[in-house]
Amino acid sequence: MNAGWSVSPLQAALHCRCPRCGKGRLYGGYLEVADRCESCGLDLKKADSGDGPAVFLILGLGALFVPLALWVDAVWAPSKWVHMAIWVPTVLGTTLLLIRPLKAYFIALQYRHRASDSGTEDYDKDE
Ligand SMILES: [Zn+2]
Repeated sequence: MNAGWSVSPLQAALHCRCPRCGKGRLYGGYLEVADRCESCGLDLKKADSGDGPAVFLILGLGALFVPLALWVDAVWAPSKWVHMAIWVPTVLGTTLLLIRPLKAYFIALQYRHRASDSGTEDYDKDE
């Protein structure tokens, strides 16, 4: 069976769903990938996004929030505790919000392109 490409990686990522069927949940925990898709039975143990999503978030959010914090400091010059009160929850919240769909996107792209480093070239081997 190779019905895998009916689901777009972006769609699977936004809903944190299986990269093949787009129905089963990808995660068993907050960031722990489920062993198997509950809908189509795809073996998800082979899915491994590594540090990719975290690196992209660090670089992307850093590029966004550091200039923003510098600008806020230059314009209003708030005290350090105000900076802490603004940026710690903002960065933490954004990170927690984006890490799941970003990891799901990486896994969906690895599935779509049969990325060999992640071992996903064997995703459909048992079928
Ligand atoms: Zn599935």
